[in-house]
Amino acid sequence: MTIGPVHLLNADLHSHSTVSDGTLSPEDLAARAARCGVQLWALTDHDHVGGLARAREAALDHGLGWLAGTEVSVTFAGETVHVLGLGFDWRDEALAAGLAATRSGRLERARAIDASLARAGIPGTLDGAMAYVDEPETVSRTHFARHLVDRGICSDMGDVFRRFLKEGKPGDVPHRWARLGDAVRWITAAGGMAVVAHPARCRFSPTVEYALFSEFAAHGGRGVEVLVPAHTEAERLHFAGIAQEFGLYASRGSDFHDPVDSRTDLGALPDLPGHLRPVWEALAPRIEGQEWM
Ligand code: AMP
Ligand code: MN
Ligand code: MN
Ligand code: MN
Repeated sequence: MTIGPVHLLNADLHSHSTVSDGTLSPEDLAARAARCGVQLWALTDHDHVGGLARAREAALDHGLGWLAGTEVSVTFAGETVHVLGLGFDWRDEALAAGLAATRSGRLERARAIDASLARAGIPGTLDGAMAYVDEPETVSRTHFARHLVDRGICSDMGDVFRRFLKEGKPGDVPHRWARLGDAVRWITAAGGMAVVAHPARCRFSPTVEYALFSEFAAHGGRGVEVLVPAHTEAERLHFAGIAQEFGLYASRGSDFHDPVDSRTDLGALPDLPGHLRPVWEALAPRIEGQEWM
């Protein structure tokens, strides 16, 4: 396949399967990515690498380029920040152990969310959320949201987050995720690149945002997600500027979770601006499958 300039590659380096809070299996995601014209794909389940062996095999079957991926939940300055790991050794045991420790708090947090929603007048949500989960320790706010939609309490996922799950709402209970430095180290020690995911979601002040990227780079983080549906055009420009200011590679991903809930399909993003260095340029030696360079 000819792909033209490297920054025009249809890379989708952010997606979720049933191993975390997505609704498609790793195999179905790979098939969908291929159908959607994706050339380089990464599955990035929250705090998990359990779907990567299956994702890799399916990606190679479909002729996709493939990178190992995960999305680590981090607490920085009292807020949750997501850090993507890309192109690491998917069999690395220290990374898997770090992720297992990170997700080990999810069940207890889910019990607290259940209790808090019960106090807000909605009992029984833990059992409801658990019905969507393969493995109890992967339970997330997304599973609570699906339950509240299916129970008819909310009209769609966005409605649930707005009314019940986002910051300051009953389903937002205090929780401590991994440390920024630990997450970056687990990823880089496994041979991968750490990338700040959808940074506009954090809503930090300029000072805290500067601290985040300074510390992230000091720990060895090397990328920032610029093209992701959560970003407006203005935010894309802002984080393109951050990429240049901090000397970071730029990433592109749909953050796809579900054919109905996710408005942006796999690979359906604008091209990366030519002046940015794509993460897949630095990660080229780590790509499996498709001989695309
Ligand atoms: P958790 O890791 O349990 O805090 O869940 C976070 C997940 O909730 C994210 O990865 C998204 O998949 C989902 N999420 C967050 N905000 C929204 C929103 N406004 N609408 C739909 N899903 C959301
Ligand atoms: Mn998610
Ligand atoms: Mn995220
Ligand atoms: Mn994500």
